[in-house]
Amino acid sequence: MVSYHDLMTGFRKLSIEPQKPVIVHTSLSAFGNIRGGAATLLGVLLAIFPRVMMPAFTFKTMIIPEIGPPLNGLQYGQGKNLNRMAEIFEKSMPVDSLMGDVAETMRRHPKAHRSRHPILSFSGIGVYKALTSQTLQTPFAPIEYLMNAEGWVILAGVDQSVNTSIHLAEHLAGRKSFTRWALTESGVVSCPGYPGCSDGFTQLDAELKSLTRTVFVNGAEIKAIPLAEMMAKGMGIIREDPQALLCSRNSCPRCDAIRTTTRQAKYTRV
Ligand SMILES: [Zn+2]
Repeated sequence: MVSYHDLMTGFRKLSIEPQKPVIVHTSLSAFGNIRGGAATLLGVLLAIFPRVMMPAFTFKTMIIPEIGPPLNGLQYGQGKNLNRMAEIFEKSMPVDSLMGDVAETMRRHPKAHRSRHPILSFSGIGVYKALTSQTLQTPFAPIEYLMNAEGWVILAGVDQSVNTSIHLAEHLAGRKSFTRWALTESGVVSCPGYPGCSDGFTQLDAELKSLTRTVFVNGAEIKAIPLAEMMAKGMGIIREDPQALLCSRNSCPRCDAIRTTTRQAKYTRV
């Protein structure tokens, strides 16, 4: 059984300067059995870091239209059944279960604020300005805000494939993004700047090793990486090889669309 004290000791060992904001991705199950569950882990984070942000994404608001722009990593007209189950985004909507129990516990915290993006919202405490910097056109502005405030990303029991901040590196490096659509109170809205697939981000782990602080709690690995340095590294890698960090699945609609686009760009340059 992992205690509040065990987690406090572990997260403190990361030695992140007080007042630096953090974006946290975590999975409770990686730690085994935590006494008090998600509330305990969130309590530890808030006791150590006064400014904490987490993803509060809501994929069930998404709609697949009949037609749309080409090379968008999406099969148009294939979503009829899913579209019927789609829900209108509301600020009180629970976060997608993929984000984990701690992210949902954060969203429900009485002191937490949540941004308004109908698919890619974030929630947090002490990060109000970061959250309000987000627009429909700039879904990852809250991460950019944290980066400019010398913030850190913490991966607690999860790997780089859930490290949302790498999507900002893709954006800053000029990589193609996608358009998705979401149900809102004012109808279906178009959401540009939707990111590619993140399954290949695990390839960045070795590159980030020299920047990463690592501790273990009950066998679970907790990593902390400074956002600005991570972004510089990620951007450099993508600029050098426009197909870097894509996944290796046989068929991946978004990675395939990026491969096609970068191939076309190469031919155009020649
Ligand atoms: Zn992929």
